[in-house]
Amino acid sequence: MTPSAAPRSAVAHSAPPAATSRAVIDLEAVAHNGRRLAQVAGVPWMAVVKADAYGHGLGPIAVTALSAGASWLGVAQLAEALTLRSLLDEAGVSRPTGEPSAQAPRVLTWLLPVMDPSRAAAEDSPLRAALAADLDLSVSTLPQLEALSAAARAQGRAARLHLKVDTGMSRGGAAPEELPALAAALRRAVDEGTVDVVGLWSHLSRADEPASGSTEEHLERYQQAEEVVRASGLNPAIRHLAATGGLLWHPQVRMDLVRAGIGLYGLSPDPSVATSAELGLRPAMRLESPLVQVKRIEAGQAVSYGGTWSAPTDRWVGLVPLGYSDGIPRAASSAGPVGVGSIMTSIVGRVCMDQAVVDLGPAVDETGASLPAPAQVGDIAVLWGAPEVADREAVPTADEWAQVCGTINYEIVTRLGARVPRCYVGSRGTGDYSRP
Ligand SMILES: *Cc1c(COP(=O)(O)O)cnc(C)c1O
Repeated sequence: MTPSAAPRSAVAHSAPPAATSRAVIDLEAVAHNGRRLAQVAGVPWMAVVKADAYGHGLGPIAVTALSAGASWLGVAQLAEALTLRSLLDEAGVSRPTGEPSAQAPRVLTWLLPVMDPSRAAAEDSPLRAALAADLDLSVSTLPQLEALSAAARAQGRAARLHLKVDTGMSRGGAAPEELPALAAALRRAVDEGTVDVVGLWSHLSRADEPASGSTEEHLERYQQAEEVVRASGLNPAIRHLAATGGLLWHPQVRMDLVRAGIGLYGLSPDPSVATSAELGLRPAMRLESPLVQVKRIEAGQAVSYGGTWSAPTDRWVGLVPLGYSDGIPRAASSAGPVGVGSIMTSIVGRVCMDQAVVDLGPAVDETGASLPAPAQVGDIAVLWGAPEVADREAVPTADEWAQVCGTINYEIVTRLGARVPRCYVGSRGTGDYSRP
């Protein structure tokens, strides 16, 4: 079955009661973003769905990305890749085996468990599970190659490998001085039939700085590595270097494949370079929570642990059942922006483990007359989402949250806790966005 014919269950519209906090994930926005990035890139693209698809939910995002044209899916950890393979099997997505099929997407994972060769060859070895799951794997070191070869021999099939080289980030990947020996060992393993070297790849450290010159240096080191690899008699067909920032801002590194993460979710790799809107992307996650209590407090009354914020006047405040255990950064204390209807307000006092208080405005006017509460229990507080200009609803962005918390939009959406239900709207490629 092709991805587009996947059963609806993989992208089911779940609708928890509106009385709980939830992340509404707009799959139509994800599909739109995928198509947009593909159009810019002009080469095949990988949907990066690590970390539960940056907090958006692995299964629905993977299936949506495939229907939007992704030919690859990428995750960091082997355990994530095995989970992904099961989800794809359940959704009826073909595997890249047997009959060669252009429809069958590939899955790449790039962090392997540390394992000696005898352990790697054992019946219950995760590396053998990886081979059985038809995964593409990354290799950076000789010990990894030894473990992979042992697993491949035991499993009776060649491991499909992407050789990762360090081109200046000094994170993973073979360093230039380690590369000749690794390439020679890979060549021997190819001759032995235990591995297939299909890819040569790396990752950019400063792609979000269009003018730093860093990306050109990465590219130069990549090209040097490629010469070493080809001189060893290896012929990796899939060369890839770019994540979203490289894809958008460094056309020269798009090569044979781009790995799109943050852009797929509608967020910019760096909003100071270009915002989502400027890039034609639509933020896919909307985090909302009902006010579970609304109360009046007196001028001078302190709010939450430590009493770090006190009401400047008699005040209406609302209680939101989300806290740092749900991924709301404690750094957002008295800072995180929140929309309640058309009111743009913020968290006041410290973010607690499970709850936070939002300011709803003054409870008295200048004459001292009482003002009614501007919001009621059950009204929805929106912490972040796609700003909607049309109906004048106040919607802060993940970018604004990142700014006030001293972090990046990636962290804001990815750290959203497992306790927050994800609710999917907008069927893949066709659905309308309708607010639940
Ligand atoms: C996370 C990751 C990506 C995706 O990066 P974005 O900036 O989110 O597009 C691509 N490649 C690797 C190796 C990654 O770890």
